[in-house]
Amino acid sequence: MTRTPHVARALLLAFSVLTAVPSAWGWGCKGHEIVALIAESHLNTRARAMAFKILADGPISATLSRYCKEPDLDAFVDSSTWADDERTVMPETGPWHFIDIPRGAREGSISQFCHPATGCITTALASQLAILRDANATAQARADALRFVIHFVGDIHQPLHDTTNNDFGGNCVPVAFFDRAPRETNPIRESYNPNLHEVWDVEIIERFMNGQTPQQAADALETTFHTQLPTWQSQTQNFSSWAWESHQLAETIVYGKLPTKIAIETPRPVESCADDDHISTRMLHLNENLAAQYQDAAAPVVREQLAKAGIRLAALLNSLWP
Ligand SMILES: [Zn+2]
Repeated sequence: MTRTPHVARALLLAFSVLTAVPSAWGWGCKGHEIVALIAESHLNTRARAMAFKILADGPISATLSRYCKEPDLDAFVDSSTWADDERTVMPETGPWHFIDIPRGAREGSISQFCHPATGCITTALASQLAILRDANATAQARADALRFVIHFVGDIHQPLHDTTNNDFGGNCVPVAFFDRAPRETNPIRESYNPNLHEVWDVEIIERFMNGQTPQQAADALETTFHTQLPTWQSQTQNFSSWAWESHQLAETIVYGKLPTKIAIETPRPVESCADDDHISTRMLHLNENLAAQYQDAAAPVVREQLAKAGIRLAALLNSLWP
């Protein structure tokens, strides 16, 4: 999530990419796998066959280092986490995983928050869908486009991928989560772990899964939300409204339920958590301590967003191949 950093910062960033938990990159392994598992169970026969054929015709490079190691995943589910690994090979795809809608923005057009030079999650979804639809695109380009779509439909439903407070979508908000106090992980960039973004990507999910496999968690979500599924399935696919919906959840729940309220910052360009007058240090001093009460407010939202993402992804692919 960097913007044209100074060379020294670029080197540090490269280092931090190599050593980073992928938490800053979107739902963790399990979140993305759950979304893909739910989607897969709702694909029609033709869409399922097309998806598997496209993925088989343009396989993931054997030399790509894969962060998520869940065994025995089929090609569709395994593809859900590829885009985060691919960022190390194609850093220019980094901005495609999110859109920085500032807290306090009034609902309306979101194009002003999407830099045309880099793109953002809503434009990336549209352009990768276009490649996926294009029968003249190369087999590899179509397979990668499908992998991006599977991943980005997940990411857009993570509220902190559609929101920023000069804090890189909560990455610069150090928090304690149950018994883990925040520790500085990069003194130059002034980043901490746990932080609010990482908690939403990984920790809340891990806690409510409570040892379940991604398949068991996906099955449980299908049961919990079975009455809502038909509505989500029949809604028109509108990436902007998905982003706004997530943005609202960030305001009401992610930031709204914090034990100590965080003020809305005046939007300004940031390159690391050291910017905006040392935002992470200022946030650290709020001593945010997230435990059972926060988990109880957040988990139902995370569950619903994962289920919704899975159903919407299936509907999107079914509409390509009815
Ligand atoms: Zn991502």
